Amino acid sequence: MHEMTKPIYVTQPSLPPLSEFIPYLEKIWKSKILTNKGPFHEQLEEELCNYLGVKYISLFCNGTVALITALQALNISGEVITTPFSFVASTHALWWNNIQPVFVDIEPDNFTLDPSRIEAAITPKTTAILPVHVYGNPCKVNDIQNIADTYGLKVIYDACHTFGVKINDIPILNFGDLSVMSFHATKVFNTFEGGAIICHDQAMKKRIDNLKNFGFAGETTVVAPGINAKMNEFQAALGILQLKTIDSVIERRKQLTEIYRQELHGVDGISYLDDTINTKHCYSYFPILINEEIVGKSRDEVYNELKKNDINGRRYFYPLISQFPTYRGLDSSKPENLPVAEKVTKQVICLPIYPDLTFDQVKKCVKVLKQFKDQK
Ligand SMILES: *Cc1c(COP(=O)(O)O)cnc(C)c1O
Repeated sequence: MHEMTKPIYVTQPSLPPLSEFIPYLEKIWKSKILTNKGPFHEQLEEELCNYLGVKYISLFCNGTVALITALQALNISGEVITTPFSFVASTHALWWNNIQPVFVDIEPDNFTLDPSRIEAAITPKTTAILPVHVYGNPCKVNDIQNIADTYGLKVIYDACHTFGVKINDIPILNFGDLSVMSFHATKVFNTFEGGAIICHDQAMKKRIDNLKNFGFAGETTVVAPGINAKMNEFQAALGILQLKTIDSVIERRKQLTEIYRQELHGVDGISYLDDTINTKHCYSYFPILINEEIVGKSRDEVYNELKKNDINGRRYFYPLISQFPTYRGLDSSKPENLPVAEKVTKQVICLPIYPDLTFDQVKKCVKVLKQFKDQK
């Protein structure tokens, strides 16, 4: 098939050549160590600490169970303040811990939790804040920490969209009490499925390591009601290989982002985010907002038109988490409490972005988007 006629996906996983993975598999088959802190698991933890610039990391089977475990590790209960503009798992993790989510609106300029609205949502039951570095955009970490310090709250960042993001050369993962990552197939760095918790001291690392292994602290000692959330050797080995090429993966995503921005610059009614100053981004997504009044088409019409052209964008994040049946009855889910999120969720489309996407394919996407103006 000619390249231009192949469907364009919203994302495609990066994978190393299979031949490079085979020697790792041979080692696993030979050692017969498949999981439980195997050699690849330990190696990947060390290499990720170095790459990400963090002190302690604990690998997990996926990001969702890592989030659930992070809340357990800090004994979070009662109410937790979070964003409705995220993947549904960030709130599900609260629900699985019997915690009441309290939704607070997002910033119009980068779609992360708006610190200026947090204080009004704090009650005597509030124990923590769970913000999301959505699309890899750093939250206003200093403002959030100030509020947390004032009210004695913990901060757990959902960092599932970030990999290697830094502000002023400081890794974003070093803010808050804990940060949680996902290495799912669709993320910038993938181990098929996988995840991690980042923490800042050895005692917490030990607690998290115990919790992810049924609470075992020794052969016959169970110190907490843990779960099975371990990363296996197959995933860890793949992670070691993926880490070797991650810089070029992020660089390629940056180039694609820059082409999108160049091509979409000045197109009325379609807006995108620019890089934040002093920030190293990871370019995990390329969200655009469709202003229906100017473009003359609704977001869904634009989305469907892309589809007709074999381009798969994604309405990400739509609906808001606060609109799913489990959560929509909550007081904080009322649309009038979340005006920015309600507006963004109706306008947003994430455009295709992944290393194998070509510049021509990016231009094809933009061409479809630009045609609406001429039709008007
Ligand atoms: C992917 C993702 C998760 C869940 O991670 P899994 O590894 O798929 O379980 C949680 N939160 C956000 C924001 C995500 O994007």
